[in-house]
Amino acid sequence: MARSGKARVALDIVVVGAGLAGMATAFSLSRAGHRVVVIEKSDGKARSYGSVVSSPNMTRIIQSWGVQDELDRMAVLFNRIHHYEAETGVFLGALTQGILDEIKKDAVHGFAIFPYGELLDLFHQLASKKGTKFRFNETVVSLEPDTPCVILESGERVCADLIVGADGFHSTIRSYVADGAQELESDARVVQLRTTIPLAKIREDRDFDDIGGPLDWDWWLGNGYICHCSVTQTQDQDMTVVIVHPYHEIATSENKEWHRTQKVENYGVSMDKMEPRLRKLVGMADSFAVRVYESPAVLESLVGPSSKVILVGEAAHHSMPSGYHLTAMGIEDAQTLGRLFSRIQRKDQIGQIATAYDEIRQPRAEFIHHYEKQYQTVLRVPKGPVQVVRDTCLQKLSEFAPGNAADEEMILQMWGGELQIITHDATEKVDDWWSQYGTFIWRASMPPPADGDTRAT
Ligand SMILES: Cc1cc2nc3c(=O)[nH]c(=O)nc-3n(C[C@H](O)[C@H](O)[C@H](O)COP(=O)(O)OP(=O)(O)OC[C@H]3O[C@@H](n4cnc5c(N)ncnc54)[C@H](O)[C@@H]3O)c2cc1C
Repeated sequence: MARSGKARVALDIVVVGAGLAGMATAFSLSRAGHRVVVIEKSDGKARSYGSVVSSPNMTRIIQSWGVQDELDRMAVLFNRIHHYEAETGVFLGALTQGILDEIKKDAVHGFAIFPYGELLDLFHQLASKKGTKFRFNETVVSLEPDTPCVILESGERVCADLIVGADGFHSTIRSYVADGAQELESDARVVQLRTTIPLAKIREDRDFDDIGGPLDWDWWLGNGYICHCSVTQTQDQDMTVVIVHPYHEIATSENKEWHRTQKVENYGVSMDKMEPRLRKLVGMADSFAVRVYESPAVLESLVGPSSKVILVGEAAHHSMPSGYHLTAMGIEDAQTLGRLFSRIQRKDQIGQIATAYDEIRQPRAEFIHHYEKQYQTVLRVPKGPVQVVRDTCLQKLSEFAPGNAADEEMILQMWGGELQIITHDATEKVDDWWSQYGTFIWRASMPPPADGDTRAT
């Protein structure tokens, strides 16, 4: 029998946080038939800092939500990543869709760039249409995990069957799941600076003729830092420029939140050694949105001890800034949660379904965290032998010959992890998991039959 996609029992669910992960989770759970309330401390208006890269694993999910027209309107697709040496401007090599196709045979289409604010608005509309209720300008200050209830700044308790923490990097909910202070990874303090520059302004300068092509993502690999830029489909088209740089100062609660600066130098970024185009590009920006990142280690579990508190998005995962997997992880979490909870039949199954979520998502989070950390370390490696090997690999891209085993091996060594991540199908993963273990959930929580009862199998 075909599934309706709706749960047999409607749960009351509170989602804390209305970023991309919270909005997507609210939509996914509302669509599964649950009563969802989102509590968000801001006024809910998108405060965009540019664009969001959507990898095929994320694009595939959003497409399945029936919004293809909206996606077509707002997406800029890209199919080439250009790599330049940041001090000299020398072109190193391009990873193209064609190369990936050769290796993965059509499995990696759908790299897109969306304007952050428009994507957030789209998710907001989707969730609202499915019945999600929003409470903006309300801050969750603590949690009673067993009840479970969240406590608002006003003192109000909001109780539910399930609480989902989608409250981002500085999550309040995480401390109830992670149990105590989290260990920080020692080498992981970096600053991310993002800005947008009108594309028309860039196009006036012939030095940029090779930069910002409609299908391109341009990366400069510097001595310890990276800078990348891509076109965003805003009203007049902008170029989003992102710098990720080591940060050697103390991370404070203020600089770990998004804030603005006119001076990149204040964050240790030196323009002196940048190649002329990069220096110009950075100089063109009126100001930058900045945030310092200090990565805690991967969580061992994304579900709290009571099984009634679950983390999604950046509250759950901390991969490196500027990697695009972080946003995709939140969307995959949302899809996984919605799909699992669409199968719930009785409230006493919440714990088992939460465990299923953990079993599916935690290993993936762990894999992506380690892969991305390693990959970004290679991209940002200071000058030396590793950088020479990296640049040689990038240069070999232009000689890539389809069917040449050595070339394919080289690509797989450098981007094999990436391919594994972006070809992942979160929906299929849940269905596979369910076909293997789902019946155990149903059987384990079935009440003993009353005399004379027959049970559907
Ligand atoms: C204002 C803003 C702009 C951003 N712009 C971009 C961008 O342009 N490009 C890009 O790639 N990424 C951007 N990001 C980051 C990106 O959204 C996240 O890194 C990633 O997508 C994970 O999303 P998330 O929903 O898990 O977390 P977040 O996007 O951080 O969302 C968390 C939400 O929870 C809310 N919240 C936190 N604590 C509480 C609390 N105690 N009570 C109630 N609500 C709470 C926050 O206000 C926030 O809206 C932005 C994030 C923010 C907050």
